[in-house]
Amino acid sequence: MTADDLNRVYNFCSGPAAMPRPVMQRVQRELTDYQGSGLSIMEVSHRSEFFLQVLEQAEQHLRTLLDLPEHYRILFMQGGASLQFSAVPLNLAQRHKHIGFIDTGYWSKAAQREALRYAKVTCLASGFDAFRQPISTQNLPLDYVHYTPNETIDGIEFHSIPEFDRDVLLVADMSSCILSEPIPIERFGLVYAGAQKNIGPAGLGVVIVREDLLGLAAEVTPRLLNYSTVLEHNNMANTPPTFAIYVAQLVFEWLLEQGGLLEMAHRNKCKAELLYSAIDQSAIFTNNIPQFCRSRMNVPFQLPSEAVTRQFLSLAEQRGLHHLQGHRSAGGIRASIYNAMPERGVQALVDFMREFERQHVG
Ligand code: PMP
Repeated sequence: MTADDLNRVYNFCSGPAAMPRPVMQRVQRELTDYQGSGLSIMEVSHRSEFFLQVLEQAEQHLRTLLDLPEHYRILFMQGGASLQFSAVPLNLAQRHKHIGFIDTGYWSKAAQREALRYAKVTCLASGFDAFRQPISTQNLPLDYVHYTPNETIDGIEFHSIPEFDRDVLLVADMSSCILSEPIPIERFGLVYAGAQKNIGPAGLGVVIVREDLLGLAAEVTPRLLNYSTVLEHNNMANTPPTFAIYVAQLVFEWLLEQGGLLEMAHRNKCKAELLYSAIDQSAIFTNNIPQFCRSRMNVPFQLPSEAVTRQFLSLAEQRGLHHLQGHRSAGGIRASIYNAMPERGVQALVDFMREFERQHVG
């Protein structure tokens, strides 16, 4: 461990979230002089050889990480995950103009609300009932079913892909769980994610779509939201977010160096178990989410009162444990422990929780 690591604070923010330290250091080293060119990647043309290589590498690394078959295409888009709430229905819901939704929390609802502008929407299952399977499609002629594998705010996660009473085209908002474990991509027609948790700088949106689903967009679809148009232009239908794609490429490279997504799955499981067992053994911290759907990425928990919560958060900050406050809609505490959070960061949090509890109960 370097001295730099030892001095580091731990950032538990839900997003924009902690970045891998070696990636940040590389960005810093290369910022004003990209590979000996004397230029920054931030200031070169997106059509330059420099950037074209970055783009190609980003795509190749992501393909390798996900073991992506040829017939799935990768899009680097803008507008984070939320713009995909519009792009997906515009591109994929034109035949029946009817989408099935699984509603497990805040972000499922947000996606559903936006989809309503473009199509009829039917909620097929909601809350903890959504984990009782198979889910009925109610014999509806659906273009696709949308779900949110990990609810970032609610701390609820599907530990396996939902099953239905018939074959459905499945679309997933993987913003807060992408790259945290391998994805059986052939089970999905499309997955998308905002970058700011496990990929890179906010604003970038990554979409992975099965090739046969291209070319179906509504005529009114804005050019930059039309998947076919974006791909026809090799992800450069306008000036792409070059710096964000460059950082994402470095994150993909880092993940490969770490051993890929199986290794990430193992580390993420260990971190989550460490934190949940500390909560479950505690007399003052609680998490009421049933075991079968507890999130490995976002761990919300509560203290007995708002005053104690405020005190905990303030003392945690002093310890270098940052951004532990729950979402403004949920309150309480939330620790987001994505790929870039090392196990020793979670251990530091657990140690602090135990000490806080001793002082408050003892
Ligand atoms: N979906 C999920 C699951 C999220 O966690 C978030 C952001 N926290 C979003 C969508 C929205 O992402 P963005 O702000 O990039 O639009």
